[in-house]
Amino acid sequence: MTTCRLCGHNKVQLIVSGLKTDFDETYALKRCMRCSFVTLHPLPDEDTLGKYYRHNYWQDGQGQRSKYLNFFLSMRVKPMISELKALIPRNGRVLDWGTGDGFLVKLLNDSGLTAFGIDPYSSASDDKTVFKATIHNAPFTDNYFHAITGFHILEHLRQPLESIRSALRLLKPEGILIIEVPNIDSLQYRLFRSRWQPLEIPFHLNHFNPNSLQNNLLDNFNLKILKISYFSQRVSPSAFLLSIFPFFAPKMMRLKKGFYPAPIKLCYLLGQLVVYPLVLAEAGLKHGAILRLYLRKE
Ligand SMILES: [Zn+2]
Repeated sequence: MTTCRLCGHNKVQLIVSGLKTDFDETYALKRCMRCSFVTLHPLPDEDTLGKYYRHNYWQDGQGQRSKYLNFFLSMRVKPMISELKALIPRNGRVLDWGTGDGFLVKLLNDSGLTAFGIDPYSSASDDKTVFKATIHNAPFTDNYFHAITGFHILEHLRQPLESIRSALRLLKPEGILIIEVPNIDSLQYRLFRSRWQPLEIPFHLNHFNPNSLQNNLLDNFNLKILKISYFSQRVSPSAFLLSIFPFFAPKMMRLKKGFYPAPIKLCYLLGQLVVYPLVLAEAGLKHGAILRLYLRKE
């Protein structure tokens, strides 16, 4: 990489090298010396990424999870839904960008909002609310949504700012955009470095910190930051635990055994409870595992 994909600066610094993948390919991470955005290096082409997605990218699908697990997941995202509802009209229209199996779309609709989802790799069975599409070819008119949620999507995109531009076209003036990404300036990353689970080499092309995300968004778009959060019930504890014990991951188990054994599942859940105070503490220090920005289109 000669220039930063976010700010265009031409000085970058190697911060980690020798990151090996399942196919024995080697990647590095490089940080922009102006905006501190971190990129995967080299950037894999579509064919290479396709090979990895076919090999080990696993969407379980809400229909394949137990009722208990779906309940557990819904409890973890309900606080965010309450916060969103306080910011937009009753029955407001919401787009979940990169919705995966459409689970959040269902929860948003159950909460009284009118929600749709897009994802080019969607495994959702409901084709009335979830569409196989990118943010650039989403089947909606401009200024349609009161809110757009983008959870763990920006780190996968080659041109994240161009994608944000397309998202903002779909959003009404004064609409709300919620973006959540892993935080490369987290204490977890400093502790685990190349073992940190959210690095997800080579799936995650981009790694943000508060400066690179906020400054590049504010420099390019007319947005107001309403709130920043550094903690996700869904991601923060599991990222910490899986950085120590990667084999607890449902994806790893599925690859190895073809199913997810109940004792491992129980250890995974109990382990998350054990690390919970640690991840709350790092979030309190504003160095949590995730960054979630609540933004308003001005
Ligand atoms: Zn930069």
